[in-house]
Amino acid sequence: MNLLENSQIFEPSDLRIPLTYWARHLKIALRYGDRKKILYLGKALLHYIKGSPKISTMPAFLKVEISRSCSVKCRYCFEEKADIFYPFALYKDLIDKLKDYIFEVSLYDIGEPLLNENILDYIKYTHSKRVGSII
Ligand code: SF4
Repeated sequence: MNLLENSQIFEPSDLRIPLTYWARHLKIALRYGDRKKILYLGKALLHYIKGSPKISTMPAFLKVEISRSCSVKCRYCFEEKADIFYPFALYKDLIDKLKDYIFEVSLYDIGEPLLNENILDYIKYTHSKRVGSII
């Protein structure tokens, strides 16, 4: 499995998101960023601005769905849910590989991350590697 195959591209419409959203990410970037991460992010942004079809740097942000489980039944949600949790060993491996490049990891996508009973282990490990986390 290619661990990076589901990466998302930043869209200009993302800039319309409220300032409080960006402030949260900025706070994490200031806390966990360093010169190397900023350099890689700068390179990626240059590729993006130039419209390069391929970005040769590593990702600056990561999204890992640590839970596909959900106890809510929103009427508009057609996502398939199941008691599947991203394996902690695989997560640690992912963080070890990317810790020098990423500012933060979002531990949420479709399922409810708080249903992962080991969520604190994921957060603690992430922070111990100088990477921020959000849920
Ligand atoms: S996954 Fe999200 S949108 Fe879907 S039912 Fe659960 S809470 Fe609602």
